[in-house]
Amino acid sequence: MADLIPTPAQARVPVRGGGTFPVRRIYCVGRNFADHAREMGAAVPASKAERGQPVFFLKPADAVVTGDADVAYPPGTRDLHHEVELVVALGRDAPAGELAPDEAMDLVFAYGVGLDLTRRDLQGAAKAKGLPWDTGKGFDQSAPVSELVPAAQVDGLEGRSLSLQVNGSLRQQGSLHDLIWDVADILHELSKLFALKAGDLVFMGTPAGVGPLLPGDAFSARLEGVAELRGRITPA
Ligand code: MN
Repeated sequence: MADLIPTPAQARVPVRGGGTFPVRRIYCVGRNFADHAREMGAAVPASKAERGQPVFFLKPADAVVTGDADVAYPPGTRDLHHEVELVVALGRDAPAGELAPDEAMDLVFAYGVGLDLTRRDLQGAAKAKGLPWDTGKGFDQSAPVSELVPAAQVDGLEGRSLSLQVNGSLRQQGSLHDLIWDVADILHELSKLFALKAGDLVFMGTPAGVGPLLPGDAFSARLEGVAELRGRITPA
């Protein structure tokens, strides 16, 4: 059977060393750093045993922005926010419910750094009414991401910092030591809810310091020693 409309473009992210990573889904983790949960007014677990369930939401695959990540200031908001995050790219499948914690890291193909761009006013209004976050989180160009670095070229993530500069000023900085749920934890928890597939990206949550981005702002996000993402917010 022929397609009756033009085939939608496949979203892809470049991989260091050549080739591309076709994107299937973008999973995101909310409140994964205690200092950010606190700044958002959310409860912070007293210990790992009391952390409950992670908060998950999704963005559409075609929200990714790659290369020199110029992002047009989005419609419908007066409060676009940055959230710098570790991005994990999956290269293997796991049927739902069958990913043991000690097998989780076998799924990881590559790492990068990204921004979980957020229309904070829309997200805040949705939260206040107990409504879904989609319009605040899952909009066009809401997921700028760096080139992906194969996991085999990354000598561990332990203790690396995530940081974001806007117009040369440091806005966010955090250590991956401080993740409430680490990569293996998150993949294990996601697997309880979804069949994970090669092509999935996971945005791992942001440290404290989220704040506004304005037209003309230049941003530079870094995963220490691994990847960098540079871009600019352009007028709507
Ligand atoms: Mn986030």
